Amino acid sequence: MKYDVVVIGAGPAGAMASKYASQNGASTLLIEEHASIGSPVQCTGLVSTAALGECEVGEGSYVLAKMKGAFVYAPDCEELCIRGKDVKAYVIDRKMFDRTLVERSLDEGTDLLLRTRFTGLGKGKISVISEGEKKEIHSSIIIGADGIQSSVGRAAGISRCKKFLSGIQLEAPYTAKDPQYVEIFTGNDVAPGFFAWAVPFSGMARIGLAKNQDDVSPLQCLEKLMSHPVVASRYKGSRTEYVLGGIPLGPPDKTIKDNVLLAGDAAGQVKPTSGGGVYMGAVCAKIAGEVAARASRDEASLAEYEKGWRKAVGRELSIGMRIHKSLGKLGDDGLNELVAYLNQPEIRDIITEYGDMDHPSVLMQKLVMEGDKKKLIKLLGTAFRTLF
Ligand SMILES: Cc1cc2nc3c(=O)[nH]c(=O)nc-3n(C[C@H](O)[C@H](O)[C@H](O)COP(=O)(O)OP(=O)(O)OC[C@H]3O[C@@H](n4cnc5c(N)ncnc54)[C@H](O)[C@@H]3O)c2cc1C
Repeated sequence: MKYDVVVIGAGPAGAMASKYASQNGASTLLIEEHASIGSPVQCTGLVSTAALGECEVGEGSYVLAKMKGAFVYAPDCEELCIRGKDVKAYVIDRKMFDRTLVERSLDEGTDLLLRTRFTGLGKGKISVISEGEKKEIHSSIIIGADGIQSSVGRAAGISRCKKFLSGIQLEAPYTAKDPQYVEIFTGNDVAPGFFAWAVPFSGMARIGLAKNQDDVSPLQCLEKLMSHPVVASRYKGSRTEYVLGGIPLGPPDKTIKDNVLLAGDAAGQVKPTSGGGVYMGAVCAKIAGEVAARASRDEASLAEYEKGWRKAVGRELSIGMRIHKSLGKLGDDGLNELVAYLNQPEIRDIITEYGDMDHPSVLMQKLVMEGDKKKLIKLLGTAFRTLF
C-alpha cells in the first residue's frame, strides 16, 4: 500500500485532516484501530455553534439539544446565570457526529481502514496491525490524530503535552433547572483545579468533571458531585454510560518532526479553560491536511503547519492556559468571591454580550477594560496583569 498522506485516528481531527488532504489532491488513507468510528465515546458532546461550522456540517441528526446559556455555581452554591439570546452550543451524539465527519472525508476520496492499529514508524512508511495481520503502509507524510496517548507522537520523538486533566462522567435521568442551560459546578470537593458539569438533553444529563491529577480519584470527586445539593435535587436515580478519559492541556513546543505532524488532542490543541477539543482540533487539522497534501508534492514544508496553526489559535491557547492556571490556584473562598463579583448586573451584561466558549480571551479583555481591575488581579493573581 502506498499513499501520499496517511492519517492515524478517525476522531474529529483525523476526519478533518484527511478530508483536507484529499481535497488538496493527495491520495489519503485514514486508519482507525477500532471496529467502528466514534466508539468508545470519551466526551460530553457540548460543542459551540462555531465548532459545527468549523467542521463544515450543519444541524444534523446528531444534535440532541440546543443550549442558550449556563448556570454557574460557586462552592457556596451562589448561582450565576449567564443568559444567551440565541443558541450558543449544541449537545451532540459524538458517535454519530464523528461518523458524519468521516463520511464527508470519504466523499472527498479518502480511503478508510478500520481495525487497523498504528504500531511503528519507519523511513517513509508506517507499520500497522490490520485485521490481526502485520502490514506496512508507505506514505510521504504521516498525520498523528490519534488522541491524548498519541503513539505516533511517541514514535516520532515529539514531546508530550504540558499537562493532563482526568475526566469522568456518567449519564443519568435529570430534571434540569432549564433544559436549555448547561450547569457548571466549581469547588475543590467536586473538581479540584477545574470544574464539574451537568449537561442536559432529553430528560437526561451528562454529569461529570475534570480535575487536576492528584491524590483524589476522579470517582471520589464524582460521588461528591452526585451528592452536591444542586445535583442531588435534580438527579432522578440510576446511572448509565460511564466515561473515563484524559484531557491534554498545553501543546508541546513542536508538533512536527521529519515527515510527521500531530493534530487535535495528540498535539494538545484543546481549550485550557473548558477542556473542549473539537473546535480547536478541527481548526488545526484542516491546516494539517492542507499542508500535508502540498508537502507530499514537495510544494510546502511541514513548518508551514506549525506556523499556521499557532497563528490561528496560539494566542487563544496561551491566554487560556494562563486563565486556567490562575483559576486553578483559587481556593473555594476565592471562587465564591469570583462568582459573587461576576454576578453583579453590569458584569453579567458584559458576560452575556462578549462570552464566547471558543474565545474566552475576548471576554477577559472586556472584563479587564470595563470591570474592577484591582479586584480581578486580587482574585486571579498577578499573572492576570500580564495577560494583555
Ligand atoms: C470526559 C470528557 C469530556 C469531554 N467533553 C468535551 C466536550 O463537551 N466538548 C469538546 O469539544 N471536547 C470535549 N472533550 C475533549 C474531546 O473529546 C477531545 O478533545 C476530542 O475527541 C479530540 O479529538 P481527536 O480527533 O483529536 O482525538 P480522539 O477523538 O481521541 O480520536 C483519536 C482516534 O484515534 C484512534 N487511535 C488512537 N491510537 C491509535 C492507533 N495506534 N492506531 C489507530 N488508531 C488509533 C482512537 O481510537 C480514536 O478514534 C472531552 C473529553 C473528556 C475526557
